[in-house]
Amino acid sequence: MQVFKFGGASVKNPEGVRNLLKIIESHPKPLVVVVSAMGKTTNALELVLYQYLEKEKGVIESYQRVVDYHMGILLDLFPEGHEAFGKLNRIFAELQKKLSTEPGMSYNFEYDQLVSYGEILSTTIIAEFLKHSGIDCEWVDIRKVLKTDNSYREARVNFELSQQNVTQSMSGSKVYLTQGFIGSDENNLTTTLGREGSDYTGALLAYFLDAESLTVWKDVPGVLNADPKWFSNTVKLDKISYTDAIELAFYGASVIHPKTIQPLKKKNISLWVKSFYEPEMEGTIIGDVTYEKLIPSFIFKMDQVLIDIYPNDLSFIAEENLHLIFKVLANYNLRVNLMQNTAVHFRVCVNNDKNIIPKVVEELKGNFHVTTSMHLELITIRYFDQATIDRVMVNKEMILEQRTRNTIQLLVKDLN
Ligand code: ASP
Ligand code: MG
Repeated sequence: MQVFKFGGASVKNPEGVRNLLKIIESHPKPLVVVVSAMGKTTNALELVLYQYLEKEKGVIESYQRVVDYHMGILLDLFPEGHEAFGKLNRIFAELQKKLSTEPGMSYNFEYDQLVSYGEILSTTIIAEFLKHSGIDCEWVDIRKVLKTDNSYREARVNFELSQQNVTQSMSGSKVYLTQGFIGSDENNLTTTLGREGSDYTGALLAYFLDAESLTVWKDVPGVLNADPKWFSNTVKLDKISYTDAIELAFYGASVIHPKTIQPLKKKNISLWVKSFYEPEMEGTIIGDVTYEKLIPSFIFKMDQVLIDIYPNDLSFIAEENLHLIFKVLANYNLRVNLMQNTAVHFRVCVNNDKNIIPKVVEELKGNFHVTTSMHLELITIRYFDQATIDRVMVNKEMILEQRTRNTIQLLVKDLN
């Protein structure tokens, strides 16, 4: 048994879906296939959610864009009158009903109920297309299989319950097509595993099924040493150890979700990252591999906010203050990308989430002075040397620096 995962970029248009079909056709069955939301649908739904919660008029338009985008793909893939249209319409009716009800109080809960539709839409379209093309394919509702706690937006998986469900529902000989990123809690309410969580779903299913390998199909030839969006002359890494992969993912390498490696490592299952456009090429293998030293990898996080916190009473930053600060951060599931403390200052660098940052700042202000600096970039270099630091510091002002033996993190302001 193999597990495949297709990300949003690989199924962003009809050609992508046809390409997925070709890849499935040319591989042995059984096969478990995990798919994300198409293209930028998750971001689009986040906007819908924001406008829905803020009761902005634009919500209708934003929602309509999501509908039109999927309908466009559907019209290209299916003949008129195909039952896929009815299925999609029923899903959109549900969504519309949701948007016409009064939003509840919890942002994280509402997030999961709404944003999860991206994966429901994509997998419904793709499962229908595979069947339409003669593949013995079953659409599996992962919410009935992958059970989690109710930490919405960052749900933790219940391994025992999920193990049972997975083996029961995916042990035949066909293609099982299912959603990444989502699951459900004990009340069967939808949960999500964190942005970019579909890789993690792939890893979990590979783990539960004792799969030979997990293959993540991407629009790059493998794991590169930097994101080509921010960096020229990238190099493909042919093999990466589990440890290096965890480190890279932790610092935000867009290769894989940070939680992906752990379940694979436990059962020594290899993770292949391969090109969706050139499926016959080798790609990158992440697994139990060895090498002398990895070539330097660069990780860029844009739109960072530095929150500077210091106690109202100028007391030292010690356990008690840290406890208060982290309680607020944890309450909002705000992930810390970098932190540093001095005697009376505590600084954290986080992604600029416009829904959450103002609330976090507000809450911290109960006990602290708080200032924020916006529009920063966080650059992490694993296996750095002076030349690599010089390369990324061109036209940047250093705000904060932190190094360990193999990794350096530079929080900078762009001077361009
Ligand atoms: N669709 C989700 C996201 O964009 C999950 C994923 O793509 O892995 O974050
Ligand atoms: Mg994605």
